[in-house]
Parts: sequence; structure tokens; C-alpha cells
Amino acid sequence: MPRFADVILPLAVPGRFTFSLPEGDEVKSGMRVAVPFGRGGKLYGGLVRRLHDEAPLTSTREILSVLDAAPIVTERQFLLWERIAEHYLCTLGEVMIAALPGQLTLSSETRIVVNPFIAEEPVRTDRSGVLIAALLEREALSMKEAGELLGLKNPMPAIKRLIDEGVVIVEEELREAWKPRTLTYVKLTDAAHSEEALHQWCDKLEKKAPKQLHLLMRYVELSRCMSDHPLEVEKNKLLHLSGSSPAALKPLIEKGLFETHEREAGLPAQALIDKAGPSLSPAQAAALDQVRSGLAAKDVVLLRGVTSSGKTELYTTLIDEAVRDGGQVLYLLPEIALTAQIIERLRARFGERIAVYHSRMSARDRTELWVRMAHGKDAPPIIVGARSALFLPFNDLRLAVVDEEHDPSYKQHEPAPRYHARDMAIVLAGMHGAKTLLGSATPSLESQYNAHSGKYAYAELLTRYGDVAMPAITLVDLRDAQRRKQMRGHFSQPLIDAIDAALKKREQAILFQNRRGYVPVWQCESCAFVPNCDHCDVSLTYHKKLHQLRCHYCGRTYPPPTQCAQCGSNRLRMIGFGTEKIEEELAEIFPEARIARMDQDTVRGRQALDRILTGFAQGAIDILVGTQMVTKGLDFDQVTTVGILSADSLLRFPDFRAHERGFQLMAQVAGRAGRRDTPGNVIIQAHEVRNPVLDLVTRHDVEGFYQREIEHRRTHGYPPFLRVLALTLRHRNEERVAAAAADLASALREHLGDRVLGPDIPAVAWVKDRHIRNLLVKLRRSAHHEEKAFVRECIDRVFAQPEHRAVQLVADVDPV
Ligand SMILES: [Zn+2]
Ligand SMILES: [Zn+2]
Repeated sequence: MPRFADVILPLAVPGRFTFSLPEGDEVKSGMRVAVPFGRGGKLYGGLVRRLHDEAPLTSTREILSVLDAAPIVTERQFLLWERIAEHYLCTLGEVMIAALPGQLTLSSETRIVVNPFIAEEPVRTDRSGVLIAALLEREALSMKEAGELLGLKNPMPAIKRLIDEGVVIVEEELREAWKPRTLTYVKLTDAAHSEEALHQWCDKLEKKAPKQLHLLMRYVELSRCMSDHPLEVEKNKLLHLSGSSPAALKPLIEKGLFETHEREAGLPAQALIDKAGPSLSPAQAAALDQVRSGLAAKDVVLLRGVTSSGKTELYTTLIDEAVRDGGQVLYLLPEIALTAQIIERLRARFGERIAVYHSRMSARDRTELWVRMAHGKDAPPIIVGARSALFLPFNDLRLAVVDEEHDPSYKQHEPAPRYHARDMAIVLAGMHGAKTLLGSATPSLESQYNAHSGKYAYAELLTRYGDVAMPAITLVDLRDAQRRKQMRGHFSQPLIDAIDAALKKREQAILFQNRRGYVPVWQCESCAFVPNCDHCDVSLTYHKKLHQLRCHYCGRTYPPPTQCAQCGSNRLRMIGFGTEKIEEELAEIFPEARIARMDQDTVRGRQALDRILTGFAQGAIDILVGTQMVTKGLDFDQVTTVGILSADSLLRFPDFRAHERGFQLMAQVAGRAGRRDTPGNVIIQAHEVRNPVLDLVTRHDVEGFYQREIEHRRTHGYPPFLRVLALTLRHRNEERVAAAAADLASALREHLGDRVLGPDIPAVAWVKDRHIRNLLVKLRRSAHHEEKAFVRECIDRVFAQPEHRAVQLVADVDPV
């Protein structure tokens, strides 16, 4: 009989914690237990990792209660967590916090509130009634306060029961909860849905109501209503594309031709699920063959498929096969909000066999899916999600698909674990004996290298669906255009002409500028002074609509200056430009066009993002101006023109990935141009047109870019040849952070020599009142475990010194 349990606590403290087991209760690995920890005896809901009989040297505290009747974390998940903690230099507790939905992580500090979405609260005669009354009055209570009210030293089991019943929820989860958007759909009534009935309707309308007839004809076209699987048509789309007003639709509903209903966007009605599967083009079928033989030979296949080539159809075919066998599939996407279209298509194909999982879902939905999967109870076999979906308790994963595998948002930045979801998906798949398919139009250098070296299998799909040509890309020399005075604001004549031509044909355009705001720099003309943030070493960006200066590092705002703070001159000029300025200039050049802007300022809420994306899809917006967001996975079939306002700024990221990132961004946004009958037109404006990366972009030369860049990485010793570990030190006092960085660097150099770069003073060296120093450590791939252990040891040694203890350190393995 084991007498002890090693427990993982939801805390960023290193080490393992052993508790003695209570009598009677059955405890298994993967169950949560309430345990006291620390001097104050705070309570934590920890996870039992291992049961054993090895008495620790020091005395142990006892587990207070067992919270779960069955494990909620599997052995494989623990193994993945351990891999992540080891690889990314963090604690198991940090991984646990990132992995578990918030409702499952409990501690004395956990604040609970009454679930506002509960229909009706059952009458309670026990003490929990007192608690709920108190919660309704005070809005939120900590676990500790709840314990005092209930008269319980260990309130965790009682609270956990209330959470399970859905009566209370964890407060921090409340903020995030959003309700899915609903749309109105139009379809024929059953009575009208026959060829004969439709003919009668047409005859009737032809004479009396030509506008209504036009609406009906457009509906027939859009719904494919004579096929076996008629589609409903979204109301606004129907009205817009038929040029009808709601007044034309209303009588048709009243007379019984159409009916409408509201549904969550993207959720297909059950009957409409397209079970037949896609019919593949010859090019797609050939690529699928390559993928299949790749999957048979290797664990990982890299699929390079140009934009609009129809990679998704390949994925769905493979997903279908995997789940038909009874297995599970994980489909990762870099950003859920921006990839709603793909989810919509997957749902149309797989219906209820799909579950979507990401951090913006309601806490209850996330928790419920987790628990269903952990208990192996009829959970959907296909999980689509952002990076956190890889933490779900899979029990029989067969296939992991990582779409847009090059996308940097697969890497978590803050807080730890700073894991890369693509890389960990491959590890997860390996643990299940499953295969991984990586897809991208512009694969990461690492993945291409692995394909070239034979570690991954490789497949490609280089023709766009329907044999549409790749867009024509034109480079415009801004220096030359400025010299000849041929610019209108930040627009060159070729770009203006291209947009103009698109608008005349009622096509759409996307414009990409990497900076948000209006102008990034106000400078004094007399003394060259630039207003900076008072808390960061950053110049402030002017936002015209809000009429304020903002720091993009800490978010502080300032009133715009009327005179120079240094010399008092009132001659201030504005340098540079952001999306807001582009939007304004566009409105002057194309006063008739309907323009929208998509950046962090305009899409703060999910609703706002939905409005923009829906408006663009329905044709209510002609030109979309945006930051990086517009480069991601947006597929709109009326977009024929794409403009990149300032390519130089994309190639100037201050790190070794600058060119890779710039190439990917430009190739991705260029790929948004083109549709069934037009290949599309891309204009790239740049000051430095001779940059060889631009030439490779215009020729769509992914392989050429790879060859050029990989040589550079080899020569200078960067990934994929060496691993990189970025160390960032922060402190209010500059001398202290500099001293700690210097000590750490010299400790690391004892073994790693010139593979330690820095300490560097970064371009932005002071953020939120803290001074920053950076170190970059290159690790040999063959010995990175040992070398990381050495780094850990150096960190422990240096930061144990009293003068360095307060310096904050962040370690980022494989930074992107
Ligand atoms: Zn001045
Ligand atoms: Zn700031």
C-alpha cells in the first residue's frame, strides 16, 4: 500500500512536494487533492503525480481531501508536461496552470462568483445556501472567505461541488466569457421546396413583383437549392448580393416562400452537413498521394501548399479517415478569431464530431470538454483549437494537423511555459504513435530544413485551386517616386491605379501597414527632440481619432504636445505613418470607397472583429487596411488587389529571423489577392528595392529564399543548426541589472565560451520603469540537455547572490 503522493501544485515554485495519504479515500494519479502549502497553510488543489511508499526525510503534511472521483489528467499528459518543463526551463506548476482550464485550478486565492448564466438556482437548505446568498450580495469571495462562511477549514470539496453543478464559477473566467455571434439565415419553406412549387412562385412574381423575383433567383443561385443538400443563405449576404432591401424579403416570408431562423455563426444545421466529402482536383489528389506516402514513411510530413491551393480539403480527407477508424484528431490553428472561415468549413463537413477549444471560450465549455475527454465519455473526436488545445486529455490521437505552421503566434510569450505549440504537437503525437502534418504556404526555416535533411517527409501543392495563376507582384521604388514627386501621401501612382481599377470592377483591396496608429514620431523641428513615454524608452505614437499619444509598450496615454518640451518651439513635425493615417489618406484619394481598418485599436472586442470580417465578406467594405492581422488566413473571394505600403519596415525586425518573418508576411499577404477568374495584383512599395528578399517575394520563390537564408544561418550559427535561448533580465535600477547580466554572462562563458552573446542593451532598453539587458545563448543541438542543465545551474548560482536576487529573469527557449 502506498503511503505517500507526489503532488504538482499550481505554483511557479520548483521541486516536488510529497504529502501523506489520508486513510480510506481512494487516490489515483491524475486526481486533484486539497493540500495545505507554505507557512500560512494556504490551500491548493494539487494534482497527484505519483503514489509511492518512500518516506521523505522531512515530515510530511497530509492530503486534506480528494477532489475528484476519477483522474482528470492522464499519464501521457503528465509526460508531455514534464517534457515542456524540461525543454522550456520552467516548473511543472507553471505548465499545470497553462494546461488546465481555470475552473479546474483551485487555491485559497481563487475567487468565486455566482454563475450569471445559470437558469434557476435550486433551493438549498444546507450551508451552501448561506454562501450563495453571501456571493449574491458581495459579488465575489475568495476560497478562504467562503471557508469561513461555511465553517469549514477545508472548503475546497464543497466549492468544487458547486463549480461542478455550475452554480458558481471562478471569477477570472468570467471576464473572458463571450457569447457566440448569431446570424439570421434564409431558406425555402418545405412547401416551396420543389421544382413545381418554385415555377408557380416565379410565374406569380414575374408579373407583380420583379424585385422579389430577382431576390428569389439570387437565392436559388446561392443556395444551390435544387441539389440534394440545399444550403441556407445568410440573410445579409443574400440582401447585399441581390441588391435587395429587407422590404423585398419581408412579403416573401409572409407569403410562405421563405422562412428565417437565427443560429450561431458557423454552426451548420444538422441536415446540411456535407457528408460526401470534397472532390479533389488532379493537383490536390497528387499532393494527397505524396502526403499519404510521406505519412507512411515518417512521423511528420511538411506540406507546402501555395495560398488558395485548397490544403484544407487534403486535411479534411485525412481527418475523416482517422476518425472513421475510431481515432482522435487535433487540428491546430494559429489564431481562432481570424480563422473562423476554416472552422466554418470544418463544421460544415464534420458537424457534431468537431469541438472547438481555445482560451476565449467560456470556462464552463472548456472544462466540460476537458472532463468528458478525460473520462472517455462521448467527446467529439476532432478537436480544433489554438495552441492550448494540445493540452487536452487525448486518449487515442491518430493525427495532428498544424495549419500555418510558420506562424509566430504558435509560440507563447507570456507567462511561462513559453512553449511552441507546433513543436509540442509533434511531441504529443509521438507519445500516441500518431502522425503530424504541418502545412503552410511559407514554411518555417526549421521545418524546411527538416524536410530537406529527410527528418520529415515533404509534399507540395503548387497550383492554386482552379488553376488560377499566382498574383503578379510589382515593386515600386519609393525613393524614385518621391524624387519625381509622384507620391500622393504614402501612395505611389501604381498602387493608386491598382486600387482604382479594382474599385471600378467592384472588387476588393487589402492594404498592409505594419504599424498601427497615425504617426509614430512627433519631432521638434528646431532641436530634434522626440516625446517619449515617461516609463519606457520608446517614442509615442499619435492616435488621431482619440487625439492622444500612446506608448505601444506599456499602454499609457498622453495628451499631444503643443510645443517642444525641450526648447519650447511650437514647430513639431510628424514622421512615419500607421494604419490610421493610411485610412485617412485613402479616404481623400477614394472618397467614394467604403474603408475599414483592422488592427489592435479597432478590434479590441471580439464583436468588432466579427463586424469587420463579416462586412468585408459580404462586400459592405471595399478596402481593408490593417496590420499583421490581414496577413493571416483570410480568404475572401472578391479580393483582387493587395498593397504593402512600406516593405522596408518588415525587413528590419531586430533579430536573426528578420528576413524570414518579412518574407513570410509579404508572401502571405500577397497570397490574399486573386480569385477564380483573376489572378490578382500585388503592389509592394519599398525604399530599398534592391533588397534581394524583395526580389524573391516577387518571384514567389520560397525555395530560393530558403537556400539563401539557410546559408546565412549556417555561417552565423543560428537555428536550425544551433538552439537559441534568450535570457532577459529586468530591474528598476540600471546598475543592478547590468551587474547581474555581466555576472551571468561570465558564468555562462566558463563552459559555453563565445556561444554566449551579450549582455546587450536592447533598442528599447527601458519598459514599464524597468531597465532591460539581454543575453543570447546558443546551445549545441546534440548536447542541449546538458547545456541547458548547465545554464540552469548558472542561473541558480548567480541569482542566489543577495545583490542579484531581486533582478527578474525570463528564459525563452527557441524564441520566435
Ligand atoms: Zn525643441
Ligand atoms: Zn510606456
